[in-house]
Amino acid sequence: MMNGSKPFSGRSSGAEFKAEPAKTAGVLFPLTPALSPRSPRRGRNIRPCFDNTTEVRSRVLPKRKTKKRGLQPQRSNFPAPCHLSPSPGGEGWGEGKRSDLPPQTHDDSRNWQTSRVYRQSRGFPHLVMKTRLCVVFLLLVVTSCAVPRHGRLLQTTDGPVGLSRIGLVLPHEHIFTDLRGPDAPGYGQADANDVVRVMKPLLEEVKAQGVDVLVECTTIGVGRNVSVLARLAKETGLRIVVPTGVYGRANFAPKAYKEMKEHELTRWMIKEIREGIEGTGVKAGFIKIASSEKELKPLEQKFLRTAARAARETGVVIASHTTSGDVAVLQADILEEEHLPLDRFIWVHSQAEPDLRIHKQLAARGVYIEIDSIGGSPKDDEKLIATIKELIATGHRNRILLSQDAGWYNPGQANGGQQRPYTYLLGTFVPKLRASGLDAETIRILTVENPRRAFALAPWRK
Ligand SMILES: [Zn+2]
Repeated sequence: MMNGSKPFSGRSSGAEFKAEPAKTAGVLFPLTPALSPRSPRRGRNIRPCFDNTTEVRSRVLPKRKTKKRGLQPQRSNFPAPCHLSPSPGGEGWGEGKRSDLPPQTHDDSRNWQTSRVYRQSRGFPHLVMKTRLCVVFLLLVVTSCAVPRHGRLLQTTDGPVGLSRIGLVLPHEHIFTDLRGPDAPGYGQADANDVVRVMKPLLEEVKAQGVDVLVECTTIGVGRNVSVLARLAKETGLRIVVPTGVYGRANFAPKAYKEMKEHELTRWMIKEIREGIEGTGVKAGFIKIASSEKELKPLEQKFLRTAARAARETGVVIASHTTSGDVAVLQADILEEEHLPLDRFIWVHSQAEPDLRIHKQLAARGVYIEIDSIGGSPKDDEKLIATIKELIATGHRNRILLSQDAGWYNPGQANGGQQRPYTYLLGTFVPKLRASGLDAETIRILTVENPRRAFALAPWRK
């Protein structure tokens, strides 16, 4: 169009017209007839083209393809593709592929269906469908990634770990504990380097035995110290699970936690489970509470109920220091009132209750029965083994947890006091269990399967 060539006038010679179709054919469809340079609406080349015969259409749509689509050529009133036939009295051949234009009337529709543009446009709905399917598929992938699958995870100081990567678990031990009470001078404080010096060899020893996870049951009120636990986990490679919750019995609960309202306590526990503890980035893996020896005091009930709500929201398990069977039953009743499934409850120190009927009754309701004084008094081993075998014989093999309540560094004493090693269970007690007749599979269930299932985060329940 440059170099002085004339712009398109519509009255050009036939030779000029023939040059145009190649340029315009591809863009003709988007143009409305009013904008087409030779459109009848613009008043040029106004000539009816009713010579739209089979022969003409067969030049637009090859016969082979027509047969394939099962369409039979026929006459139609659709305006003729003027560019394909000479127009008597007209100026040469048409400028574009008029047959590609959408039908103007209802009668045009059949001819329109045979056109090239129509056939090309038939791919469009399929494209839309494919795009929608892709979007749905992507949404499903994103959703499945976003939904937490907590039924297969354990929350440790190093973050969540899949259950398949976990073997032996000690479900109730202590590493750093201060029983002097929250008002004692220097409560919960110690030189971290000294704690590591004392406790690291003990943890390495139990890791060498094959233990993967140690559950640290020290909570608020008895000296929980998450930063030193996280450091020991890093230095030893042993996975450690830490709790949230308040040790409510006696005078262990700090005043600030006693005064918190129920919804505040629940919110605080949920925050420690989901976001982390005291800015350390370490998330709590369960809730630890405590009850009095022969009753459940109002404050203990408050901690229990708020723990139930937090557990229901997050899927963690509640472990309660409870030495009385009657109190354990009362706790189970309250948890059911709070709509918490009882497989989210561990009866800690159950060996202190002599009436095994309560153990069986609670196990049947789903409660985990923890025997956690192993190694504390070796002369009691036979009695503990008898209890374990009785529970297994009555169908509660999947509810039993074994641990030692061993450790720990006492911040009020020189060198952290006297520590009890963590190795008695696997080194001494398990061989005694085998000698008593328990098979290897049962021992694996008691030391691997049950504890990791108990502490695995259950699916979100809200
Ligand atoms: Zn304990």
